[in-house]
Amino acid sequence: MHLRDQRHCYPGRNLTTVREVRDVWDRILAERSEAEGETISLSQTGKTAVARVDHGRWLIDCECGDAAFAWAAHPEAACMGCGAVYGVQFPPAETVAKAEAVLDGRREANRNWFPDRETVKDLRAENLLGGDVAVGFDVIVGGG
Ligand SMILES: [Zn+2]
Repeated sequence: MHLRDQRHCYPGRNLTTVREVRDVWDRILAERSEAEGETISLSQTGKTAVARVDHGRWLIDCECGDAAFAWAAHPEAACMGCGAVYGVQFPPAETVAKAEAVLDGRREANRNWFPDRETVKDLRAENLLGGDVAVGFDVIVGGG
């Protein structure tokens, strides 16, 4: 089980390319603009956001309070709430692979990671302490 990103997160869509992701952004914002009677369009913020993992999904936080899905292969993320576009900073691929292995041992709701604040070692410790309850936690504690 790998972490989900822009390819897997938009409702009812299974995307494979950056182009397809950007087409979905246009479609979602066009649909929302029509539904709400006010135009919501993509706008470059010129800012970079640090990607984090929330419930097994890569995302960034938008200044409007919403979140935007991210993908390591795509240098940008767009908020579908307000249209803001950000550059995205991911941890090194090697670090991501290690973190994924630790997060895989958790229920989806507990697959959370702030790469700018938590190391992979921190994630392992959380699994052992049950602070972010891991699958198999009872077994680990029972064997202690
Ligand atoms: Zn926003």
